[in-house]
Amino acid sequence: MLRVLFRTNAIDDRVRRILVANLYTKPGALFLGAANGVIAALIAASYSKVPAIFDVAVLLSVIGALRVVMALVLPRVVKRDTVWLERLYQLGAFSFCLMVGILGGLTVEFGLPGAAQMLIICYAIGYASGMSSRNAGRPAIAIWGMVLTFVPICAALLRQPDLAYRALAVAIGIAFLGMMAIAFQIFRTLRDSVAAAETSARLAEKMQVLARSDVVTGLLNRAGLNHYLVEHLARWRQHSNIALFWFDLDKFKEVNDALGHQTGDRVLCEVAQRLRRQSKPDSVIGRFGGDEFILACEVRDRREAETIALSLLGEVSRPLRIDENRLEIACSMGISVYPDDGQDIETLMQGADLALYHAKVNGRNQANFFDPAMTRELVRRREIEAELRLALQRDELSIFFQPIVDLKSGKIRAFEALVRWFHPEKGELRPDEFIPVAEETGAIITLGNWITAQAARAAAQWPDDITVAVNLSPLQIKAPGAALGILNALREARLSRSRLELEITETVLLDHSKQTDDFMAELSAAGVRFALDDFGTGYSSLGYINKYPFGKIKVDRSFVSGVNAGKKSEAIIRAVSEMASTLDMAIVAEGLETIEQVNAVRAAGCTLGQGYYFSRAVPDYLAGMLLAQEREKLNPQRALG
Ligand code: C2E
Ligand code: CA
Ligand code: CA
Repeated sequence: MLRVLFRTNAIDDRVRRILVANLYTKPGALFLGAANGVIAALIAASYSKVPAIFDVAVLLSVIGALRVVMALVLPRVVKRDTVWLERLYQLGAFSFCLMVGILGGLTVEFGLPGAAQMLIICYAIGYASGMSSRNAGRPAIAIWGMVLTFVPICAALLRQPDLAYRALAVAIGIAFLGMMAIAFQIFRTLRDSVAAAETSARLAEKMQVLARSDVVTGLLNRAGLNHYLVEHLARWRQHSNIALFWFDLDKFKEVNDALGHQTGDRVLCEVAQRLRRQSKPDSVIGRFGGDEFILACEVRDRREAETIALSLLGEVSRPLRIDENRLEIACSMGISVYPDDGQDIETLMQGADLALYHAKVNGRNQANFFDPAMTRELVRRREIEAELRLALQRDELSIFFQPIVDLKSGKIRAFEALVRWFHPEKGELRPDEFIPVAEETGAIITLGNWITAQAARAAAQWPDDITVAVNLSPLQIKAPGAALGILNALREARLSRSRLELEITETVLLDHSKQTDDFMAELSAAGVRFALDDFGTGYSSLGYINKYPFGKIKVDRSFVSGVNAGKKSEAIIRAVSEMASTLDMAIVAEGLETIEQVNAVRAAGCTLGQGYYFSRAVPDYLAGMLLAQEREKLNPQRALG
């Protein structure tokens, strides 16, 4: 108990701060107490001619007035320094109490009329008890205040010969003990509840910090990003542009799969550290889940945003070493800039996300700024996505056939099935536009099955030596029961297996998956043929040609008519043709549009050709007519007969 009286620093500083602040609340009560005292003192003084009583009454009034002013002004002036606030309060309270005590003592000592004595002593006891409970938060003030009030009064009372006076002194002493006990009781309850409230507030604060940070990297998480981006945007937007960079690590999944999640996490931590190091001090950085990061900072203009983007890209894709593994993590980035690309965080994020998507589609490891055209493109994609599922039911899709011609004899050897979408409002849609959407949404599986079935049905009407080529998407091959589905389609159409050729691109083979191997092995054992499509656009690895059962290589049309066409591509075609002929494979040149091109690829060793020079893709009945015409020319008698 005594420790509390003399050492007020014993309690936690934050709790103490609140309790001290409490002293200054409700200056109205302080005013009433002081006013009461002033009135009582002045009345008592008016009963006597003793100048000392008058002086003390005046002093008490001045101190009372000063305290009220202090209570109103001090908390606003001395904001942080609790020690000073408490000291000044103590000074005011103690001097006021002492004056009340001395006044009480003097009224008794100088034998003022009983009513005046009663007025002052009752006021003193009432004031002291009110003061002690008001200041129970700082018990030292409560107790010393009572001591200063009661000691002069009791001393004067005890000096009187009357027993009643002495008894009053004893009663005051007992009341003092009682009030002290109550003050301590209030103090303890107050302190404990303030401390408990403080602890839970601090815990809540800690929880909030935890809830806003990412466990793996220590950066902000999605919730934290949202919170701080909104907060910072409000602060930054007044005087600058803001750039929002959205990163996605390229092929991070492969690192995770190959080296395990622990290594994956370490890569994420390293990336986070690099972002922190390479960014401006006031940047907001977070991980948006998975392998995506977001960074936002103030920039002068787009040019500065670009410089930052490049430096961040460079830093993140610097090779990193984890244990004995040396990893190269490339990353793609989308950027949007406030205020041009959006006025609020949501729009800016959408913009950066779209730009990121474009960066990825455009070949990864690059940064793209948001462009409003991206939104239009996305809207169109979304429409296509939504309508594609219905297109099949509404009969808007059809299969066209483009002949593949023998470059020596000029005879049609096969037709490639190419899907077409005749949209009632958008007109004819090219497969390049909707096949990637179908691949993304998985609709390609249903679509692909339908295409194979249609193509097989059409081909069943053609002469036996004409094959049909069908393009397969990677996802179709990986679908469970893919090989079986194709064999069923052939059976239903009554088409011999050797008359179907499946065109697949190199990308299908890149991941060396067992599913692909099994799919190709099963179908080629059943007699179905395979062609390697778009050769020359990917890695152009000749290794695949040996490893898989390809009967045909289709040289991409960019080698024939694109920017690549020329001496170099001619040499490549020549080399591939030579190899193909030793392996007994056919080589097809795609995209032949002129007789010169036909002659050139023939001279380079291609055996087959396809392109507008011969024919565009045509509906099945026209394909049938092309074949009939050809047979007529070769065998006029039969046609006539
Ligand atoms: P691809 O397999 O390389 O198909 C050849 C593309 O070249 C076709 O475009 C064809 O119309 C076009 N072409 C043919 N001759 C010429 C020519 O002389 N000059 C020019 N400039 N182009 C020519 P299409 O039909 O727009 O198909 C584009 C791509 O869409 C195809 O490329 C293929 O990858 C995909 N695709 C088309 N149909 C299907 C399908 O049924 N299933 C799947 N999975 N993909 C398909
Ligand atoms: Ca093809
Ligand atoms: Ca092709």
